[in-house]
Amino acid sequence: MSRVYLMPADGREGEGVLREKVGALFDAAELGDCFSRNDRTALKLHVGEPGTTTFVRPYVAAALVERIAARGARPFLTDSTVLYKSPRSDGIGLTRVALEHGFGLDAVGAPFLVADGMSGTDEVPVPVEGEHFEEVLVASAVAHARSLLVLSHATGHLGTGFGGALKNIGMGCCSRKAKLMQHHGQHPRIDPDLCRGCGDCAEWCPPGAITVEETAEIDDETCIGCGECVAACTEGAVKFDWAVQGRALQERIAEHAAGVLRPKRGRTACVTVVMDVTKNCDCLGVSEQPLLPDIGFLASRDPVALDRATLDLIAERAGRTLESMSYPDRDGSVQIRRAEALGLGESRVELVRLA
Ligand code: SF4
Ligand code: SF4
Repeated sequence: MSRVYLMPADGREGEGVLREKVGALFDAAELGDCFSRNDRTALKLHVGEPGTTTFVRPYVAAALVERIAARGARPFLTDSTVLYKSPRSDGIGLTRVALEHGFGLDAVGAPFLVADGMSGTDEVPVPVEGEHFEEVLVASAVAHARSLLVLSHATGHLGTGFGGALKNIGMGCCSRKAKLMQHHGQHPRIDPDLCRGCGDCAEWCPPGAITVEETAEIDDETCIGCGECVAACTEGAVKFDWAVQGRALQERIAEHAAGVLRPKRGRTACVTVVMDVTKNCDCLGVSEQPLLPDIGFLASRDPVALDRATLDLIAERAGRTLESMSYPDRDGSVQIRRAEALGLGESRVELVRLA
C-alpha cells in the first residue's frame, strides 16, 4: 500500500495561499528525501498549448523549485516537443510558449530546458522488459537528470480517458519518436485538401518515405514513424488519428514510464493538481470549463497510487467517473494496471488528508 497526500484547495483561494499549500504538501509527503545535493533535478510539467487556460500555474512550479533547491539540488523545468501541428512541435516554439505562459527564470526560480532538444530527437535508449517494447526512448534532459519531480494536471483525454502522472511520465518525458512508437500502428496521413505540395515534409523525412507531386504521399513500408513530417508541415496537412488504440496506447505509455522511472528509483516525486479538471488535456488549445469543483493538490512518491487516488477522488467528488464525463468508451485505469504489473508502484492507496 502506498501513501498519497491530499491538500484540499480551491483555485479561488489566491496565489499566495495556494503556493503555501503546495510547499506544505511537499513537506508533509516528505518529497524532499528524493533530492540530494548537486542533483540535476528535472521538474517535468506541461507548459500548456496556446489558448489553453487551465495548465498548471507557474507559482505551483515555483513552490516546488524552492523546496528542491533547499535540498541543495539544481532544479530545471522541462517539457518535450509534440507530434502534432503546434508551436510546441520544436524547441524554439516550446521554449517561447513556456516563457509566454510564465515559466521564466524570474518567476519560477529555475531555467526551462526542452527535454528532447530542438527537433525532438535528443533521446536516450533505455531497456525495458515490456510486452510492446524491449527498449524505449527517454528524452535526454530527463535521462541525464539524477532525480525527477513529475508535476501533472489531472484531465480527461481523447486517447486514454485520463491523463495524470503516468501519462506525464510515459508520454511527456520521452522523445517525439517515442511518442510515435506509443501510437504505433498508425502512419501519418496527408490531407490532400490542405497539402499545397511544397515538399517541406519530404525534405525533413529521414528515410525518404515521402514523395511529392501535386500533393505529398507517404510510403508506409518506408516510414519509420518519427513524426518529423508532422512538425515540418505548416499547413496542418499531416495528421494522425489520435482517437484510436486507447488500450494499447496506455500499455505503451506505462512501458515508457518504466524506462523513465527505473533509473530514478527512490529519486522520483510526483505532485498532481486536481483543479480545473477538464474533458481534454492541456494539449488542446482552447479554454474549457472544469468538469467538477476543485479538489486540490495530491502528492506521492508512487505515481501508480497517485493516479489511482486521482481517479477515485474525482469519482467521489463528481459522483461519477472522469471517463463518463469525458470519453465514456475509454478506461483510464488501463495505464495504472499496466504500470503496477511492471512494478512501478501499487494501486492500493492510503490517503492522508491534510488540513
Ligand atoms: S509540408 Fe505539408 S503542405 Fe508541404 S507537401 Fe508536405 S504535407 Fe503538403
Ligand atoms: S513519420 Fe517520419 S518517416 Fe514517416 S513519413 Fe513522416 S517524416 Fe517520414
